Amino acid sequence: MTEDVLQLPLQFLKGVGPRKAADLKKAGLNTVEDLLFRFPRRYEDRSRLQTIISLRPGMTAAISGEVLNAGLAHTRRPGFRLFQALVQDASGQIQVVWPNQAFLKDVIRAHQRMVLFGKVELWGSRGLQVTDPEFEIIKEGPDGIVDPGSGSKELDILHTGRIVPVYERTGSVTPNMQRRFVWQALAQVPPDGFDPVPADILAKEQWPTRRDALRQAHFPDASTSIDALNAFATPAQRRLIFEDFFVFQTGLALRRHENAQVKKGLVCAVDDRIRESARKVLPFKLTPGQRESLAEIVADLQQPWPMQRLLQGDVGAGKTIVALLAAVVAMDNGFQVAVMAPTEILAEQHYRTIVKVLAGRPYRTALLTGRVTAATRRDLLPAIQRGEINLVVGTQALVQEHVTFKSLALAVIDEQHRFGVVQRGTLAAKGLNPDVLVMTATPIPRTLALTECGDMEVSVIRGLPPGRKPIRTLLKADSRRDEVYAMIRDEIKRGRQVYAIYPLVEESEKIDLKAAAAMAAELTDVFPEFTVALLHGRMKGDEKEQVMRAFASGALQLLVSTTVVEVGVDVANASLMVVEHAERFGLSQLHQLRGRIGRGEHASTCVLLYQAPWTDDARERLKAMVETSDGFVIAERDLQLRGPGDFFGTRQSGLPTLRAGDLTRDLDLLERAHEEARVRVDAGTLSLEQQAYVRSVWQRQFGLITVG
Ligand code: ADP
Ligand code: MG
Repeated sequence: MTEDVLQLPLQFLKGVGPRKAADLKKAGLNTVEDLLFRFPRRYEDRSRLQTIISLRPGMTAAISGEVLNAGLAHTRRPGFRLFQALVQDASGQIQVVWPNQAFLKDVIRAHQRMVLFGKVELWGSRGLQVTDPEFEIIKEGPDGIVDPGSGSKELDILHTGRIVPVYERTGSVTPNMQRRFVWQALAQVPPDGFDPVPADILAKEQWPTRRDALRQAHFPDASTSIDALNAFATPAQRRLIFEDFFVFQTGLALRRHENAQVKKGLVCAVDDRIRESARKVLPFKLTPGQRESLAEIVADLQQPWPMQRLLQGDVGAGKTIVALLAAVVAMDNGFQVAVMAPTEILAEQHYRTIVKVLAGRPYRTALLTGRVTAATRRDLLPAIQRGEINLVVGTQALVQEHVTFKSLALAVIDEQHRFGVVQRGTLAAKGLNPDVLVMTATPIPRTLALTECGDMEVSVIRGLPPGRKPIRTLLKADSRRDEVYAMIRDEIKRGRQVYAIYPLVEESEKIDLKAAAAMAAELTDVFPEFTVALLHGRMKGDEKEQVMRAFASGALQLLVSTTVVEVGVDVANASLMVVEHAERFGLSQLHQLRGRIGRGEHASTCVLLYQAPWTDDARERLKAMVETSDGFVIAERDLQLRGPGDFFGTRQSGLPTLRAGDLTRDLDLLERAHEEARVRVDAGTLSLEQQAYVRSVWQRQFGLITVG
């Protein structure tokens, strides 16, 4: 196959030795194709380089010339250093200065050729100068290291006199080396190689062929709009971005399709008796979002293949009752249900809710956590195995490792934050193929849902049930701490409870922990009349549980905590949360934290204390918190502010790095790719060659994830 050239390792290219290959690998570039899918960061129009003689004050100009001399200049201001270079082209010379960048003395030297892009200014008696320009060294001087291949005339075509791609520097690989590598790589693209984008889409969109698109995306024709290029909106760029998304989405669609071929053992049926039974447990009228989600879930329960559905909804959106109604359907079919939570406290919480809602109904339920005595467990496990228990609530680990079910039809996983990929695996490995419903309180922006959970179905409950009191959110400078203490005092005197949250970041964990402990000590001093305790992730499991339980029972009035409380308890009596150093938290994290209050009948307040100086990003985050309490709006903002890689806080989410596309910028293409991929996979219209290609890309790019 001709396209195999694109799958060759980058060392195949002239000038890429082991060191550079290693640097490129670190940036995720392994193959020639990877390199071609690494778009330039931006494009510069160097087709119209100005002559030095034509420069006037106030212009922003691009010039190209040779460095005559360069060095640090003496200035009178102490501590201020100026690096300057005299640059000459065929028309004349000009002084170029970089304030406070002394390190340039090791970068810019006489006899180099460089391209400069910056502002032309008149500088007193010194005359014209270019101030603080962007620059690129095109060719090292005789005393410098000569890049392989740099003797070639061709270089002039690559680096100047055209629209030039500017790449991000990767380790030892400079932008202009990369330009040269890409140029070489482009020459390897076969004219009639396999194109992953189906022909009908290409025709409809009038998109260029793969080879043309790659060329235009790196070395655009002179007639291309530089603005369109920098917006990544030319047909060539869009086509490649689409390709990137489409291949990925096809992989997800194939996975989903294969899941649909699996037969589950227990298929639910729904009749009037079951509908009536569900109505009996319903304590209130469902919101439209709850109704829709429930309908989607119940439809899945009746399909012959196992459900894999994510139920998204903000904290308090009312996911539990929806899951419970689905459980009733399964139980009325004579099947068993497992409800799993990440912690014991959450499992107990679910159990209490479930017992309350199911009171008076004929289902047998059981709680299975580490706190259940050995004797009880000895009775429970066989009963579950015999199918006498209809519904088991427990922690994930416990249920999955120790329980054998007679007829498990539905597994509800309350994930809070993470996703159920692993859990799904364990249940499947036990030979069970139950319907799986994963509940998450982290609203996931649609773009991420399409990539992260593209092989799952997603149900969303927007908004909160009626009658909920909105949480008031206040932003206060740390200097107004006294006011905040007064608020705490009032609130506790009124019988309420308060959270004080302290940030804890891994890099400075020790210092932060001390700060949190110091805060707890200070608050104990400030409020000698109240019960105060500290909670953090470094405490032992049972210590943590003890503190949480004390707070849940009301024995503790003020809980000083790091973010461990995020996935914590539901304490309806807690009505005030003070977040210290709010500027240090991520937006989604703040939202999760805030969701710990406003859970009861009391009006609640969240105070975000910040300390100057704060960054623009921090200001944006805190502003967003004050402006909205809609988790989906917040999630979208967070994604814009942080980018997809950071959205989940860590890369543990398994979000694959897409090569060309940008999830926020290219949403329309992503949606399109998602639709096209699903339709084609479901209709079976994907050629074998396309399927094979997708599988090989998945294998290479995402490693452990297997498709089919
Ligand atoms: P979450 O989505 O965070 O799991 P829950 O299921 O715990 O939310 O619901 C939060 C609260 O809202 C619970 O007390 C629940 O009883 C209540 N609730 C849920 N749905 C409705 C509804 N449709 N009308 C009124 N209250 C509701
Ligand atoms: Mg919940």
